[in-house]
Amino acid sequence: MESKSKDLWVLCETNEDGTAKNIGVELLNPGRRLADKQGGKLVSVVIGYKTDAAVKDVSTHGADQVIVVDSEEFQRYSTDAYVAALAHLLEKYAPTSMLIGATPNGRDLGPRLSCHLGTGLTADCTALDIDEDSGNIAWTRPAFGGNLMAVILCPDHRPQLGTVRPGVFKKPEAGEDKAEVIREDFHVEACKIRTSLLQVIREEGGEVVDLEGADIIVSGGRGVGGPEGFGVIRDLADALGATVGASRAAVDEGWISHAHQVGQTGKTVGPKLYIACGISGAIQHLAGMSSSDVIVAINKDPEAPIFSVADYGIVGKISEVVPALTAEINKAKA
Ligand SMILES: Cc1cc2nc3c(=O)[nH]c(=O)nc-3n(C[C@H](O)[C@H](O)[C@H](O)COP(=O)(O)OP(=O)(O)OC[C@H]3O[C@@H](n4cnc5c(N)ncnc54)[C@H](O)[C@@H]3O)c2cc1C
Repeated sequence: MESKSKDLWVLCETNEDGTAKNIGVELLNPGRRLADKQGGKLVSVVIGYKTDAAVKDVSTHGADQVIVVDSEEFQRYSTDAYVAALAHLLEKYAPTSMLIGATPNGRDLGPRLSCHLGTGLTADCTALDIDEDSGNIAWTRPAFGGNLMAVILCPDHRPQLGTVRPGVFKKPEAGEDKAEVIREDFHVEACKIRTSLLQVIREEGGEVVDLEGADIIVSGGRGVGGPEGFGVIRDLADALGATVGASRAAVDEGWISHAHQVGQTGKTVGPKLYIACGISGAIQHLAGMSSSDVIVAINKDPEAPIFSVADYGIVGKISEVVPALTAEINKAKA
């Protein structure tokens, strides 16, 4: 497929109530930079039902143009309906590239869309840029178990498609609402939708841990020494109003649930403050937290690799340093 423009598209996933999911707004941040470098418009594509709030959200967060497909059949995600709508739009407008969130739905949608359009897809990206020589998007993603970062180009096919992990980029600042809104009246014949959602069963007692939305995270690793070691981590988190995170080692030991895991096979986070306690700083952990604004590392080993990414480092034992920090914070709050 030939591109008709240098525009860069960002898919804005919507919730069932028509509001935008965070990822659709976050992606406007790298989207702006890439669109400017490509010399095209930044276009947000909103698909859902009763999407006015989502359209306003992306319009005030930097989109130059918003293309909207709003109809009851898009209230809930369906592979067939969403692929049909997006393929129709991409064929009609033929932008040069599109970013999709690497959410469960985005991971389902991206490969099917790329297959439908006969183009490539780079999945699960953690960094994006433009390759200076070719002008293609340089999609960066972890490879070989996170031991190296692969930079992937899609030189021969358009559009260039990629899914991008939630939490890697911060939402751009809100500003003026000056986007042009185009409404597309698109419907899918019912017989083309091969699956339907019969029932939503919510897991009872399943822990919900909002690491991706947290401003402050206090994480514990194998260095906490056992499940009871998370007591001092929780105390510090409570004092700071923070969310508790963990390394995979602590999760694998069964000291804390997987919902708390940060890293390549856990959540990617970007808080204002990340405090890593007893975490060595393996590349797979760093892959999930190194874009935090300020990183504080507490570790008894002065040579621990975590100190190479930390803004502040404290060499010492968790059992001494963490309660002392908590006491000081509580004192300052009082
Ligand atoms: C495919 C793959 C995916 C992975 N995905 C992830 C992932 O998503 N997230 C993740 O975290 N890991 C992941 N890992 C595992 C990763 O490689 C490391 O094994 C893991 O991060 C180590 O966890 P840790 O730092 O808690 O433990 P360790 O590496 O054992 O480090 C413990 C640290 O605690 C310090 N310490 C010990 N006692 C104390 C004390 N009393 N006070 C202060 N400090 C102390 C030690 O000096 C050490 O630095 C993955 C690995 C693979 C192969």
